[in-house]
Amino acid sequence: MRIGFGYDAHPFSEGRRLFLGGVLIPHPKGLLGHSDGDVLLHAISDAILGAAGLEDIGFHFPPSDTSTEGIESTKILGRVMELVRKEGFEIVNVDAVVVCEEPRIQPRRADIREAIARTMGVDVGRINVKGKTTEGLGFAGMRQGIEAYAVCLIG
Ligand code: MG
Repeated sequence: MRIGFGYDAHPFSEGRRLFLGGVLIPHPKGLLGHSDGDVLLHAISDAILGAAGLEDIGFHFPPSDTSTEGIESTKILGRVMELVRKEGFEIVNVDAVVVCEEPRIQPRRADIREAIARTMGVDVGRINVKGKTTEGLGFAGMRQGIEAYAVCLIG
């Protein structure tokens, strides 16, 4: 068994669509980034890569690579799953936290868990996602962006 940890943060930006866990969430602003800005899938991808000792998503998808500009993060996570399975690993479970004042995560939690499980090719019972607020503290609390943390166990 091996454990991995991932973290990511992206700023809100006008004129972008908001994706969390591969789910399009209706919101006035999206997240800025080289990809679609899906902060949750990036944290999960880094947790999985970390568990397998396979660097991080910046290594596999460098921001300097214009061919991956605007890439769907579901494709990043799909590629990460290919890499770890090639090493002979399978996912035991993922637990993740999305930190933001808005949008509220709880009403979309089931959709997000199912979308992540589908992208990873694992049972939804192995994926857990929690939403947290910071009572107005920090950039997430000031509604400037969203951050996400994830741990993953593989075996
Ligand atoms: Mg990112």
